[in-house]
Amino acid sequence: PHLVNQIAAGEVVERPASIAKELIENSLDAGAERIEIEVEQGGVKRLRVRDDGCGIPRDELGLALSAHATSKIAALEDLDGIITLGFRGEALPSIASVSRLTLTSRPREAPEDTPAWSIGVGPDGTLESPQPAAHPPGTSVEVRELFFNTPARRKFLRTERTEFGHLEQVVRRIALACPEVGLVLRHNGRQVFDLAPAGGETARERARLAQLLGQSFAEQALTVAAEAVGLRLHGWVLPPAFSRSQADQQYFYVNGRMVRDKLVAHAVRQAFSDVLHHARHPAFVLFLELPARQVDVNVHPAKHEVRFRESRQVHDFLFSSLQRRLADGVLGERTP
Ligand code: ADP
Ligand code: MG
Repeated sequence: PHLVNQIAAGEVVERPASIAKELIENSLDAGAERIEIEVEQGGVKRLRVRDDGCGIPRDELGLALSAHATSKIAALEDLDGIITLGFRGEALPSIASVSRLTLTSRPREAPEDTPAWSIGVGPDGTLESPQPAAHPPGTSVEVRELFFNTPARRKFLRTERTEFGHLEQVVRRIALACPEVGLVLRHNGRQVFDLAPAGGETARERARLAQLLGQSFAEQALTVAAEAVGLRLHGWVLPPAFSRSQADQQYFYVNGRMVRDKLVAHAVRQAFSDVLHHARHPAFVLFLELPARQVDVNVHPAKHEVRFRESRQVHDFLFSSLQRRLADGVLGERTP
């Protein structure tokens, strides 16, 4: 069974950043209000995600780490390069199959004197029996020595700095989309983010933006809020006059999910060039909400593409909302 997990791991566990994404999403699914991510050596040596979510009862710990499939394939090294098998939504077993993983949890609703329990996975993939542990209500997943047993995968890892950069970007994307969740990120003992929940309060939202995207973004960005024909757009745009080299400060979410989409990019670029006569380095964090049946976000989970049913309408809404906001904010403030 361990082998099958390793196959699945090839799909979902590419690098520390992809593990962090799976673990943080699990924490969000568990209703966490605060998530702490602690990383050593880019996440390769150690990566721990701790939350204050619903927790997992002792007798379900093993289940969380188990997959159901079996395999006849004899050697893992045969599998390197096989990427056609789909990932089956088994993040924890997959991660456990290519690292040393410990899951520790205490259900939120458990009585005061209930201990937390911790479960590990042995090198051969067998589950250890749960041990009592000290842990506040919630869950910690600790992943150590990523790819220690799959040298072929380890070879694809980049420098500590690069791996951490990817991981930090994953945290940034999630943090922008979840302002109500407190998030802490530490790397090698150094604090990278300490994000208090913003709870819809403008000053706190700006404080989060400053940490995530820099002081100038937080200070200069124009807020966006537009609504029409069942579509809603909100967030921030930073006119290029204020941006330096922010080619990568482009965050667009559709119904809470980050996407990279040609139609969206085109509409944004057009709005910028219409108002400012160029569209170099537009920086933005934008959230588009629309009825679920109007959009297919499942085109390819890894590519972040979407398909809008009324693509023309979405394009025109984005263009006109942003064009109006930029014209107000930039031309309005600058022309006497
Ligand atoms: P999936 O998220 O697709 O169900 P995972 O392998 O990521 O699969 O997680 C397996 C299960 O373990 C989850 O369905 C959930 O019940 C439990 N779980 C994982 N992480 C957490 C967490 N942080 N808090 C509570 N339960 C968790
Ligand atoms: Mg999951």
